[in-house]
Amino acid sequence: MYKNIFGQEKVTNILQNEISFSPPTLAHSMIFHGNHYTGKLSAALETARLINCTREKADNCTCSNCVAIRNLTFNGLVILSRRNYYYEIIETLSCYRQKKLPHLRDKLYRAIRLSFTPLQDFLIENTPMADSDKKQLQTLGSKFADFIDKPEYTSTELEDIEKGATFFLNLYKNKNIPVNVIRNMLDWSYMTLPEGKKVVIIDNVDQLETSSENVLLKRLEEPSDDLYFILLAENNSRVLQTIKSRCRAYYFKDLSNEAKNNVLQNIYLQNDPNIYSSIYEYFHQKDPILPGNLKAKVDKLINLVFQKNVNFSELYLFIESEKNKEILLGITKELYSVISNEISLYENKNTQTEYFSLRSFPLKFLREIEKDLKLRIERTSALNLTPKTQLEGILYPIKEMILHANR
Ligand SMILES: [Zn+2]
Repeated sequence: MYKNIFGQEKVTNILQNEISFSPPTLAHSMIFHGNHYTGKLSAALETARLINCTREKADNCTCSNCVAIRNLTFNGLVILSRRNYYYEIIETLSCYRQKKLPHLRDKLYRAIRLSFTPLQDFLIENTPMADSDKKQLQTLGSKFADFIDKPEYTSTELEDIEKGATFFLNLYKNKNIPVNVIRNMLDWSYMTLPEGKKVVIIDNVDQLETSSENVLLKRLEEPSDDLYFILLAENNSRVLQTIKSRCRAYYFKDLSNEAKNNVLQNIYLQNDPNIYSSIYEYFHQKDPILPGNLKAKVDKLINLVFQKNVNFSELYLFIESEKNKEILLGITKELYSVISNEISLYENKNTQTEYFSLRSFPLKFLREIEKDLKLRIERTSALNLTPKTQLEGILYPIKEMILHANR
């Protein structure tokens, strides 16, 4: 049991004990909370399998329920999620292209299948979704349906997987699970299934809208014997107290360095796992929003703004060319942290700096920029403002001032 979950023996032992009792003492509503990539979803799927196994609950059990849950085709399993598997798929693809190992094939299949499962027809009925997206979803769905039976993927199939992942990357820009999806799931939850017990997994329950939380809460208040809820949350403090009080909580701690290295080395074949501080960082190494990747853009921006010999139009073109809102917000945050860091170096009379163009300005001036940036970052998130306008609002006047001072 729980053999595929790394570094979480404490919590999986508790779950295992609860399941092994006769009858099981598992709660019907559970919340698995902890940071991303700590194994919450894998543990939830394994729990769903153990609840439904018709034999001895062995790790390699081949009863029809265990097989269907492993393949993510079990009728009693519903997953509500807007998780984006793009970067995970891209890295797994690159490993698989080097070595066609069965466990990497399984990871690829699982990631595509997990992308589709939350978009089953009955779940997305009456939800706002473009017809073209629905059509594309059906086309991809029928293409990937037989991927489970292929022991090895060809290069054409790997390209199809990459294209599919790109489609989801764009589709899942909005991370919220629409309230109608929750309603459709609740309608489904009253059905009786001949195969076994129903398990509903809701990902990122800490990001649900209040309306969705209230709809869900009503159902949690009336448990039934053949229904289990497993809610997943990264930030448990953001989950409604009334929801939490109806769930038994299980904490998934951050992976130890050893467990992280174990996963990167043995599953993803990385010879030097220490260069990644977490599994997230490994998967997201090509993600432009990862702080490390934003740095090059921020360095360039600092030169464009603070160097006196750079004219206004270069700064204008740089900001205009960046169309991605999340990247622009990321740049603003990274710029804030660079300036804060510079200020503390300044205050400690530390002469080492990467940013000589900032050093030619007085500390007071940098403090004002820091304050303004902080305010704008908070406002952008709270009031849903456009990051581009916020960035222009602070950088254009600075640039003007620097250019005028030069004359
Ligand atoms: Zn079984």
